Amino acid sequence: MRPQIIEKQKLTKPQKTMRALVYHGPGKMSWEEKPRPPLQDDTDAIVRITTTTICGTDLHILKGDVPTVTDGRILGHEGVGVLEELGAGVKTFKKGEKVLVSCITSCAKCDFCRKSMYSHCRHGGWILGNTIDGTQAEYARIPHAETSLYSLPAASDEEALVMLSDIFPTGFECGVLKGAVRPGDSVVIVGAGPIGLAALLTAQLYAPAQIILIDQDEHRLAAAKSLGATETINNADGTAAGKVLALTGGMGADVVIEAVGLAATFELCQSLVAAGGHIANIGVHGKAVTLHLETLWSQSVTVTTRLVDTVTTPMLLKAVLSGRLEPKKLVSHRFPLADVVSAYGVFANAAKEKALKVVLFAR
Ligand SMILES: [Zn+2]
Ligand SMILES: [Zn+2]
Repeated sequence: MRPQIIEKQKLTKPQKTMRALVYHGPGKMSWEEKPRPPLQDDTDAIVRITTTTICGTDLHILKGDVPTVTDGRILGHEGVGVLEELGAGVKTFKKGEKVLVSCITSCAKCDFCRKSMYSHCRHGGWILGNTIDGTQAEYARIPHAETSLYSLPAASDEEALVMLSDIFPTGFECGVLKGAVRPGDSVVIVGAGPIGLAALLTAQLYAPAQIILIDQDEHRLAAAKSLGATETINNADGTAAGKVLALTGGMGADVVIEAVGLAATFELCQSLVAAGGHIANIGVHGKAVTLHLETLWSQSVTVTTRLVDTVTTPMLLKAVLSGRLEPKKLVSHRFPLADVVSAYGVFANAAKEKALKVVLFAR
């Protein structure tokens, strides 16, 4: 009898891999090989990331300030890419289409999403690079793809558009819209980092008379001036409050936007606001802050807080694609995605490196 020939069966398909930036606890990260994310739900999409960037929030994570991010997590919540795979339930996109990844994932159906509070989505919110793997990788799985991705023209400028994943909607929604900037207003923005500068650029859509930027970094103040600030103040000597009063005829500002996230800067905002004015907080605060009701109780002042919902992303997209808004002006450095660890080094030393936004490209 001839021996039966048994065809060798491949028991396991070779798993597709990719490279990604992986968090390994405070101060530790590495660019390493990981399995490519598969589709998990039929509302998912897999995006091949072509452009991404590093956020101040990523630096907080690396310091260990964000306990929801655990060892092994791929970081990043901002990106532009190409649709590689679509779950069966994703009907509004096509494979190969270019998309913007929103930093906020939204199911569009839960009670918070129905109130346009996507940041509080019961099945999403800020999860990318936080509780699920993120976008500083060659591929990313995006849940609720139909309502968390935005279609982009194939020929559009990715460096400009990746700024719409997070910083532009954040500066606009939490700063400009919550602060209710109106034509002719005097506006003060405390903090000239990427978020403060995004608020500066989007505030100009409402034609305020004055936009005063306060920071302690001369390079950032110079950037603010070139981006449309009417005045800049270096508060290294702590004299900003007097200078703002002098610049506003002793009144203070109609809108004060806090874009730092420290107790001292929030307290400064309270001394800058005019009667009837608004203090719009954007900063992420880790410590308690004193609210000076002993001076503000009679001043008809409004204080607002918000986490970005990215509800204005479609509107900002139109403003960028038409050339009305130019977020690319915030890009100071560019690196290949594989050099992401060096890029973190530059972004973490922003003052020394004169860094604003650091773009990573994988093309
Ligand atoms: Zn971000
Ligand atoms: Zn929802």
